[in-house]
Amino acid sequence: MKINLKSRRDLELMRAAGRVVYRALTRAKELAHPGMTTLELDRIVYDTYTSAGGQGLFLWYPTYAPGKGFPGNTCISVNDEIVHGIPGGRVLRDGDLVSVDCGIRLGGYCGDSAITIAIGKISPDQQRLCDVTQEALALAIREIRPGRRWSDVATKMQAYVESNGMSCVREFVGHGIGTRMHEDPKVPNFVSDEFRKRGDFYLQPGMTLAVEPMVILGSPDVVVLDDGWTVVTKDSTPAAHYEHTIAVTATGSDVLTDGR
Ligand code: MG
Ligand code: MG
Repeated sequence: MKINLKSRRDLELMRAAGRVVYRALTRAKELAHPGMTTLELDRIVYDTYTSAGGQGLFLWYPTYAPGKGFPGNTCISVNDEIVHGIPGGRVLRDGDLVSVDCGIRLGGYCGDSAITIAIGKISPDQQRLCDVTQEALALAIREIRPGRRWSDVATKMQAYVESNGMSCVREFVGHGIGTRMHEDPKVPNFVSDEFRKRGDFYLQPGMTLAVEPMVILGSPDVVVLDDGWTVVTKDSTPAAHYEHTIAVTATGSDVLTDGR
């Protein structure tokens, strides 16, 4: 495991990338409405970050050979889709929950963030799912500080989610981020014996992590669809996904994708 620590200048550049991601997701939230396709929503995000000079990191990931890899600028996952949904002709309807994940590079540095957007009027359970997932991320932001083990933060995230009767996705995790979107370490939102033995790490100033709780209203099992990308809940209950790119500072954490 090789964790790259960032300088003050690196962090400024990452914040500049993060600001563009924030703007793109904010625009998606403002403009998403019933009757729109997920491809139209993808285009809004794409236009926002490209007009700011950002380069998308998802299209044709991981090879970046055209025609091979992920076929979209953003990941758009609706209702029981958790992550890696492919933008297309699906029409958004009143009561849908839409997770939009956006990663870009700007000035050589990456920003990665995701939000779940309510389309029209959603149910109390859907609202609770969004609130719990967002609070799991907020809790991590409050708990991050140098000298603490990641497993201690992840334990609190998992306990919070499960105390609300919901489940943490185990197949997908957050990650270090910097000049590349995916750097060491792996940053799970739950704890396992395997992680404690081989993956755990101490938080240090200059670390930059993409923390991204993926929460399911029902049970934790997931299935990958035949398209090879879209991850859905096995029990068809809805999922939510929130992500920020976060720097560890001398005293705590600093969110780089919150628009500041
Ligand atoms: Mg992301
Ligand atoms: Mg990520």
